[in-house]
Amino acid sequence: MLRVPGWLGGRCGTITGVLRAVLFDLDDTLVDQRTAAAAAVRAWGAEHGVDDDGAVERWTALCDLHYERYQRRELTFLEQRRVRVRAFLDRPSADDDEADALFAGYLHRYESGWTRYGDAVPALRRVRAAGLVTAVLTNGDAEQQRGKIERTGLGGEVDVVVASSELSAGKPDPCAYAEALARVGVAAHEAVMVGDSLVNDVRGALAAGLGAVLLDRRGEHPGADVPRISTLDELDPRLLSGPDGVVDAP
Ligand SMILES: [Mg+2]
Repeated sequence: MLRVPGWLGGRCGTITGVLRAVLFDLDDTLVDQRTAAAAAVRAWGAEHGVDDDGAVERWTALCDLHYERYQRRELTFLEQRRVRVRAFLDRPSADDDEADALFAGYLHRYESGWTRYGDAVPALRRVRAAGLVTAVLTNGDAEQQRGKIERTGLGGEVDVVVASSELSAGKPDPCAYAEALARVGVAAHEAVMVGDSLVNDVRGALAAGLGAVLLDRRGEHPGADVPRISTLDELDPRLLSGPDGVVDAP
């Protein structure tokens, strides 16, 4: 048993006893995908005559809208890409092959911009050093997300990777959490989810019975009534404790 000061004590959900695993979101939690996407869309858009002014915001809005539709299984992974391309480049009549070819121009730039955050590896190593399982639960395509993990040098730091394309639903659906936990091999009350999305990573995890910590790198949720950190450097598995500040280390 590990006795620690519990500054998150009683505020991180249902962790009251044994903590066995920490689940991390991938995009904008371990990997800076937002910066990669912004740089890629600026260069790609310029190539196709898109005005830079507001381009990133427009692309981000299209991604958010259609990626959520993909998570709800309303579109396939390829379809959400095609819809985004047609809307962003104003090519409503582009057929699938044309849309795929156009998207490839964005994709290779996006992939070459993937970079992990500097605090990711130290945090994953602290979790492992505490005897806990390190897992990634990401809303995305398994092949792309595993490629992202490998390319950014995180592969050796993560014990289990679960992508929503392998599940019956994406976060925040409770099914996503239940199925991911089964793959990790722990119960909901033995796990904490850490991520940048208040809805998907924190509200979803809490509703599914896990503990949760919001990673608010940009200070976008100052009033959120959930445990909140601004960098993974603040994440100490010894502090993911229950109300009495006690965690049973496995
Ligand atoms: Mg994220």
